[in-house]
Amino acid sequence: MIIATNFNHYQDLGINEKALIKSIQINWPTIKVPIFIYIDKRLSSAHGLHACRCIKDYKIIPKKVREVLMDEVLNNEDNKNHFHKISLSYQYLSMAKENKIGWQISDWFINDDENIYQSYFSFLISHELQHANQIENGRQYKKGDWLKYKKFMHSDDLNEIDADLASILKYRNVLENYKKYNGGSF
Ligand SMILES: [Zn+2]
Repeated sequence: MIIATNFNHYQDLGINEKALIKSIQINWPTIKVPIFIYIDKRLSSAHGLHACRCIKDYKIIPKKVREVLMDEVLNNEDNKNHFHKISLSYQYLSMAKENKIGWQISDWFINDDENIYQSYFSFLISHELQHANQIENGRQYKKGDWLKYKKFMHSDDLNEIDADLASILKYRNVLENYKKYNGGSF
C-alpha cells in the first residue's frame, strides 16, 4: 500500500516520514487501499480519527493526496476511488512530545524507561491503522484474545476494543521498525 502524509508542515514534531511508512508497510501488509496520514491542528476532541474517503467527494483534493495517492486511488479498480484518511491531533502530539500529556502509562503498558512520545505515537497510529484494516478485512481479534486485557479497554464497542488490542500487541513492533529505518532513534 502507498502512504502520503502532511508531516512536511510539522517539522517540529520530528517524525521521519520515510521510516514511518516502511514500518507501517511491514506491520500492516493486509491494508491495500492507500492511506493519507494527516496531522490536524484543529483536532482537539480526539487523539486520532480514521475515515474512509472517496476522492470524488473532494472539491479541492489535498496536495499530497493529489501528488502521491491519486493515480493509485483512481486507477486501481480495487480501491473504488477510496483512500483511508487518518487524522492525528497536533495538540496531543505536541503535548506528548513535551511529556505533558498526563498519560496513564500503566494503561497502555508503557514502561518507565521508554520515551512517552515514541510510545504514544506508535500506540495511536496503530489504533487508527487497525480501524483502516477493519474496513478491508473485518475485526481481527476474538473475545478470547482480548478478554485478559479488558481492564485496559476504554470502550465497549467491538471495533474500538479490536483497535486497542492491535495497539497493545503491535505498537512495540511499529516502534522497533521505525527506529531501525530512522538510524536507530525516534
Ligand atoms: Zn478508535
